Amino acid sequence: MKTYDAIVIGSGPGGYVCAIRLGQLKQKTLCIEKEEVGGVCLNWGCIPSKALINAAHTYEKAHSSMATMGIKLGSVEHDPNAMQDWKEGIVKRLTGGVRGLLKSNGADLLAGTATVVSPNRVEVKKADGSVETFEATKGIVLATGSSTIEIPSFKFDGKQIIGAKEAVSLREVPKRLLVIGGGVIGLELGMVYQAFGAELVVVEALPTLLTGVDQDCVKVVERRIQKRGGKIYKNAKAMGYEKQSDGSIAVKIDVEGKPETIVTDVVLVAVGMRPNSRGLGLENVGVNIDKRGFVPSDEFGRTNVPTIYSIGDLSGPPMLAHKASKEGEVIAEVIAGHKAAKDWACIPGAIFTDPEIATAGLTAEEAQAKGIEVSVGKFPFAALGKAMAMMETDGFVKIVTDKKTKQVLGVHIVGPEASTMISEGALALEMAAFAEDIALTIHPHPTLGEAFMEAAAHAMGAAIHIVNR
Ligand code: FAD
Repeated sequence: MKTYDAIVIGSGPGGYVCAIRLGQLKQKTLCIEKEEVGGVCLNWGCIPSKALINAAHTYEKAHSSMATMGIKLGSVEHDPNAMQDWKEGIVKRLTGGVRGLLKSNGADLLAGTATVVSPNRVEVKKADGSVETFEATKGIVLATGSSTIEIPSFKFDGKQIIGAKEAVSLREVPKRLLVIGGGVIGLELGMVYQAFGAELVVVEALPTLLTGVDQDCVKVVERRIQKRGGKIYKNAKAMGYEKQSDGSIAVKIDVEGKPETIVTDVVLVAVGMRPNSRGLGLENVGVNIDKRGFVPSDEFGRTNVPTIYSIGDLSGPPMLAHKASKEGEVIAEVIAGHKAAKDWACIPGAIFTDPEIATAGLTAEEAQAKGIEVSVGKFPFAALGKAMAMMETDGFVKIVTDKKTKQVLGVHIVGPEASTMISEGALALEMAAFAEDIALTIHPHPTLGEAFMEAAAHAMGAAIHIVNR
């Protein structure tokens, strides 16, 4: 039996980062993957969806703003096949890069399905049916991620009833698209196909889209969807569907007790992801799985079985790639005997709708619920020269501070490059910054970052380019 210091199960952004870091720390490491290296993130999640989103944004700009800027393109067309080929090229480059990094850092990669058979042993079933057992002397890291949730009344058929995996690979833009679930994935992918001409309908069971996100930000995206002709049903449940003789699909929805039927061509089910904790053998070794299927771990990434660690989507929300990767790095250091722990002030989130939303820390409502009196600074992109030059003036930067001390508690951005700008908000929270720290930091002109500086100044009643109220 081959022995390693550490065995990592899963090679998503949690697992592969953990294995690379273990290799860097001179730990003999095996990383086991049953599908493709890179996990959901590289193969059909973050990267493929962002490639399509960027293409949609470029197409949209070519249609909506370029002529105003004085750039005449003639007719602008899209070619879904070429787009898919381009996207797949990016995925190949990245997954190839991960393989190379694992190798050059000395981590072994093995294709197969892993099961935990004891607190320090893992069994791997390979494609040829053979089974091999490996031992880990220091730790087993569970990084098996999550899978799409299916609704029984909308079983995936891979063509007309699809999940995110199929939605990032469409080689034809549907004329009509109905998205079940107004969460991050549903809105991001729904807006891609809307930009390419699909009539979009979003059906959300809850009273709001993107529940938990600053609703002022969400409203900006909601308005954009509606401005492009999209329809949004809230408090609405998708009940079932019937195939029509012309090949279309009649979806039955219940809107606050009132039945309605919506005819569409494709239904994207985007109601969330569930952790991959089943079939891993965890029950046999006594690893706790919580009610929702997550495998919780402590600040050192340890499950209730001290030699078994869990990271990424499997260990609990937020289900985000950068959270998985950071946990992977930290847990590698823990296993290598370094002084490390999961210790961060916030995990920022970015939602790649059009415009983007990005958040870090508390919303005003969350802070108030904790009994903190807040003062909110807000600066609209409509008042910013750079945003005007980009023709992207919808949205704002909002900074939530403690009313007494003006310490930054949360940052919420909706608008151009919100996903890039939020890193500054995350840094402010990590450094326990005050509004003054941000307002006194010179931000280059003209940039979108000036909106962050002005929002901080506004929290102190001292913004220059808007009237302070
Ligand atoms: P995964 O990426 O799910 O990887 C787990 C790996 O483990 C898989 O490759 C799987 O095959 C393997 N595995 C499972 N069981 C076994 C076993 N028994 N043996 C061997 N291997 C096994 N997050 C962001 O932060 N930003 C985004 O923009 C973003 N966009 C997204 C868009 C979409 C459409 C989707 C679906 C998700 C998106 N996410 C995004 C979420 C992100 O993809 C996940 O949070 C991230 O991939 C989780 O990483 P992970 O390493 O925990 O698991």
